[in-house]
Amino acid sequence: MIITIDGPAAAGKGTISKILSAKYKLAYFDTGMVYRAVGLQMVLSGEDLQNQEAAAKIAQNLTFPQMMELSVHPDFRSDIGSHAASVVSAHHDVRAALLKMQKDFALNPVFADGTPANGVVYDGRDTGTVICPNADLKLFITASTEIRAMRRYKEFLEKGVTADYNKVLQDMIARDERDSKRSAAPLKPADDAIIIDTSEMDVQTVLSKVMSLIDAKL
Ligand code: C5P
Repeated sequence: MIITIDGPAAAGKGTISKILSAKYKLAYFDTGMVYRAVGLQMVLSGEDLQNQEAAAKIAQNLTFPQMMELSVHPDFRSDIGSHAASVVSAHHDVRAALLKMQKDFALNPVFADGTPANGVVYDGRDTGTVICPNADLKLFITASTEIRAMRRYKEFLEKGVTADYNKVLQDMIARDERDSKRSAAPLKPADDAIIIDTSEMDVQTVLSKVMSLIDAKL
């Protein structure tokens, strides 16, 4: 079974995807990681994020071990890494270079330890529209910008990172705008996606809604 979960930042996609993949024994592919890896490598190499050619070269040569190594860098999920991922992900050549590896994962899905899985939960922005247009179930999980910014702000505080709510909100607005206005695979629900607004829902409520959709498919 292939499930795609797309939507803007901090809408709850990651939390829901991880719980679903464990419950239904499906592999989990956080596609934001590939763009974060390219963005962070650009920053570490001192490249201008607007340099499409340099970013595409990094994307073409990106290996899984390199991505895992970059994923433990302190800036992989910081505002620096988020901004870099958002800028490089708008480059057509970067998206083209990363397309095959994302699509191919559905053909032979594996868990983190390499054992085969019966399917995948994809988490991203374009997984229902571009990566897996034939997915069994497509979800688009969203929430108001203010609520998403507040969730991200609280996450920073829980991690002991100093944060300013207004700055988090402004960054979120800028990232949403870049992700939805870019010409390469803009953030939007697939025509056949089920849209879930989590603004007024807790995780359990979202989960029971999504699980009833999956159980109906099974
Ligand atoms: O999901 P995450 O916040 O880790 O994604 C980081 C950035 O990567 C997003 O803001 C978006 O610009 C980009 N991205 C994308 N397509 C995906 C996943 C992420 O463009 N499928």
